[in-house]
Amino acid sequence: MNVSLLVPFAHGERGMTDLLGGKGANLAEMTRLGLPVPPGFTLTTEACRRYLKDGHRPPGLDDQVRKALTDLERSTGRAFGEGDRPLLVSVRSGAKFSMPGMMETVLDVGLTDALVERMVLRQDPRFVWDCYRRLVEMYGRTVLGVPSTSIDAVRAGVLAEQGVSATAELDVAGLRSLVAAHRRALVATTGLDLPQDPWEQLTSSIDAVFSSWNSIRAQVYRRHEGISGDLGTAVTVMQMVYGNSGPHSGSGVCFSRNPATGDPEPYGDYLPEAQGEDVVSGSQATLSLAHMAGREPGAHHELLSHISTLEKHYRDLCDVEFTVQDGTLYVLQTRVGKRSPAAAFVIAADMAEEGLVSEDEALVRVGGRQLELLLHDTFEVPGGARPLMTGLPASPGAGVGSIVFDPHTAVARRAAGDDVVLVRTETSAEDLDGILASVAVVTARGGLASHAAVVARGFGRTCVTGVAGLVVDELAGQAVTAAGDVLRTGDVVSVDGTTGTVYAGSLAVRPGPVAGGLMTVEDASDPEGPGNGADQRVLAAVRRILQHADQRATVKVRTNAETADEAAAARAAGATGIGLCRTEHMLLGSRRALVENVILGIGAQDALARMEQLAVQEFTGLLRVMDGLPVVVRLLDPPLHEFLPDPEGLAVAVALLEGAGKPVSDVLRTRLDATRRWRESNPMLGLRGVRLLTVHPELVDVHVRALVTAAHQLDAAGGNPRPEIMVPLVSDVAELVSARSRIVEVAVATVLALGSDLPTPPVGVMIELPRAALCADDLATVAEFFSFGTNDLTQTTWGMSRDDAETGFLSTYLSDGILPKDPFTTLDPRGVGELIRIAVERGRRTRPDLELGACGEQAGDPDSIAFFVDCGLDYVSCSPPRVPVARLEVGRAAVLAEGTSLSDTR
Ligand code: ADP
Ligand code: MG
Ligand code: MG
Repeated sequence: MNVSLLVPFAHGERGMTDLLGGKGANLAEMTRLGLPVPPGFTLTTEACRRYLKDGHRPPGLDDQVRKALTDLERSTGRAFGEGDRPLLVSVRSGAKFSMPGMMETVLDVGLTDALVERMVLRQDPRFVWDCYRRLVEMYGRTVLGVPSTSIDAVRAGVLAEQGVSATAELDVAGLRSLVAAHRRALVATTGLDLPQDPWEQLTSSIDAVFSSWNSIRAQVYRRHEGISGDLGTAVTVMQMVYGNSGPHSGSGVCFSRNPATGDPEPYGDYLPEAQGEDVVSGSQATLSLAHMAGREPGAHHELLSHISTLEKHYRDLCDVEFTVQDGTLYVLQTRVGKRSPAAAFVIAADMAEEGLVSEDEALVRVGGRQLELLLHDTFEVPGGARPLMTGLPASPGAGVGSIVFDPHTAVARRAAGDDVVLVRTETSAEDLDGILASVAVVTARGGLASHAAVVARGFGRTCVTGVAGLVVDELAGQAVTAAGDVLRTGDVVSVDGTTGTVYAGSLAVRPGPVAGGLMTVEDASDPEGPGNGADQRVLAAVRRILQHADQRATVKVRTNAETADEAAAARAAGATGIGLCRTEHMLLGSRRALVENVILGIGAQDALARMEQLAVQEFTGLLRVMDGLPVVVRLLDPPLHEFLPDPEGLAVAVALLEGAGKPVSDVLRTRLDATRRWRESNPMLGLRGVRLLTVHPELVDVHVRALVTAAHQLDAAGGNPRPEIMVPLVSDVAELVSARSRIVEVAVATVLALGSDLPTPPVGVMIELPRAALCADDLATVAEFFSFGTNDLTQTTWGMSRDDAETGFLSTYLSDGILPKDPFTTLDPRGVGELIRIAVERGRRTRPDLELGACGEQAGDPDSIAFFVDCGLDYVSCSPPRVPVARLEVGRAAVLAEGTSLSDTR
């Protein structure tokens, strides 16, 4: 196949980014549109790939470059390497995907000693020498590989010698000595000088730009962004225009809308008497567009007209690089502009409103990750703020509070009205009260799926885990950071869960611009609502797009919730029911003893009665909040080791009493014996879920009775409760048959006893073991619905305990690239996903109207939701803070799956 090696601007167009890179393709497109683009041509990525493979420019390329250069000379009326107004060119990198600042560009190529001497006769010598100075610097760095720091040092030396502070203040003599100093340094460090043959300058610049594709920083950037290393970069060669040629010249960048706020006004920076790289380098203070209008009204007017043409043409936010040469405007680059998450929503919604894009396009242009960032508070971090320590961003948000080192103190301080930050080595189930009482949690150990991280995300608490080097002495009430800072109880810190950074002292919190508006019931009497005007605009944009997402969605969004407050927040955020209520979460903290007493058989009857009473209360709250919507209650599934006391601890207590000759109570002995009997060597695979319910069916009874009772009371009061019951950790249909008959028996008895006319709740099964997925056809003979518990299904499919993996080898797997993603965060489509597909197919074969849902963390993960939509599930169920994110993603997935002509969406 004969792929082009070189394409003039006039022959390209925007669709050719594979071959011309983004920069080259868009320069060609702007040329086609008639915008004032200096003429040029692009060496293709194919030429680059062949250069990198063979180690030299492909045969025939030089001839094509000479020919294109001749055409360029003809169209510009200037000669390359000749005359007093010679043609100079820029040699620019540009890959298919934008890699800002990762590769190289050389400006003012083609200038030599001889040409400089001729040019100064006809043009401003300061301008000529400034161009030469720029060429020597850029060529030295890019082609000869001299480090920027050395070049900066040489420049600084000459500036000092000349007694000025910037190159702009150098006179001709000063610029001459700067050029001379640079060249002496080049020769001293590399043995090479700036070539005095323009053609050699050009070809070696092209080679350098090709090679910059494989620079270390470009490789690192690509790995981070998931860009393939095989693509190569294109090289654009174009006529130079000069922003440094006098008072009516300058360079700048301009966006068609504000990229930070989304405001529909052009936004830009302009720097008079400068070439383009001065603008981006940030070395000088730039002027606003309004100031530019004052200096260059004609060019300014034209710029706004072009940026508007481009926006309409690309139907998206565009940015341009431009240069003004003696009052005349040139456009040097355009692309679809990067934007903040808030701007992404505002721009998408505005463009849909303006009719520039369809509602579908607006929807797919934003994403759940961006929405997540808008939902959480952030800090306004002042310049001087010093990070105390940094860990993993485990649960986003901004929490300020005083440090406590144990959960009891956290609860007590909270009760006294303090905001507290819980700092622990790691957390366990016993710490739940303390976590809930804290605004933020920081742990020295643990990964993104450690206990602290999972609980904090579920309950919307800010959390940073895995703080390397942090040593927490919980007993002494102090901790020492890697940097040696000592933290004591009561010290105030600011925890940024979005970045993983913890700061000393109290930083100002900027509320998430849409959190309040989306997570609370809309108050029609308050048109302003929470937040300022800008936040209101973002909120309105998010609402508009979410509304369209709901219209397009084929999959519903429910929530995982155990308290009426969480359920209410989730319903306000758009949840259409509860997909998972983890009964054991109602029995945490001080209520853990109830589970222990039932299992150990100590005061079991009282414990059961109390459990039932509590459950009626909690279920009533949930069913009331979710009136008219389904509420799936999963029967008790306590990890035994988290609910039973540690036998070692009890044994020590007994030994101490015995050693002191004191009596040991019967209860203590019974507890010790029972705990030893129940101790499991592998709790993750032990007596859990339906297995425990089979051994202790009285645990089924209390919750079924409680749920039916709560539903009956609400129904009698005129409500519309819709409870459902789910059986956990089933692997065989026989387990389910047995559990279901107990459930139905108790439900029927309760209904009869209450004189209720409610139907008994539907019974379904949680699919969280590979065997359950494979036997889904059997399970569906009994189960009325399935819910995929993807957390445990991932653990059991991979045969990996999440805590052990996250705190141990998984980080090595991820950093070595053995696994691309943490399967506990983003669903593994190949293995776990395959089991889900099998279960969906087999389950529906048995029972075509089988209702299917997914719960677990991946069900709220933006990168996993499309998979669940593709499987044809009826709903995903996620933690309340993620409900809007999931709504957005199920809508996007539906639109993207349709794959209609969504032109140019990224
Ligand atoms: P980057 O990809 O890092 O932005 P560019 O290739 O866009 O690198 O070029 C760097 C700077 O040089 C930009 O500001 C650009 O506008 C400017 N520039 C590039 N080519 C020319 C040219 N022919 N005339 C004037 N300025 C140019
Ligand atoms: Mg650029
Ligand atoms: Mg489970």
